[in-house]
Amino acid sequence: MASEPDHCTLCGEKGVSTTKIRSGGRFERVLKTDCSACGIFYADIDELADFVEEDGRRKASPEFSFRLSVLCREQNLATLSPYYLRFGKERGDEDYFPVPGTYSVNAQDLVKDRWPRNVPETLDRALIRTSFITASG
Ligand SMILES: [Zn+2]
Repeated sequence: MASEPDHCTLCGEKGVSTTKIRSGGRFERVLKTDCSACGIFYADIDELADFVEEDGRRKASPEFSFRLSVLCREQNLATLSPYYLRFGKERGDEDYFPVPGTYSVNAQDLVKDRWPRNVPETLDRALIRTSFITASG
């Protein structure tokens, strides 16, 4: 099992708050990260180990990591349940354990489905994000 990182897995921010939590009756299976840039997100520790190299560098492209970071932040700004990012295991898999109060989502599908594809979609999302910030003060 991978050790607890001292930085954000998605954006690389240092000094983030990480907490190992219990899931599915097993101890310390899921890592909760509270990052000043990405907000709060959860991920299976073993799956994160597959997402990150031994030296802490990400295997995923910087663009993919950036997009995940932005989508997690957007979810937090909208005060919706934080994402439980899945990098492999899915509902129905033997070692898939849900975390109550989170929105479980496959990271690849999230970026593919939620990232704006063109200028009008980008502008729409920018206006929506601005409304979240304005509404929360
Ligand atoms: Zn981050």
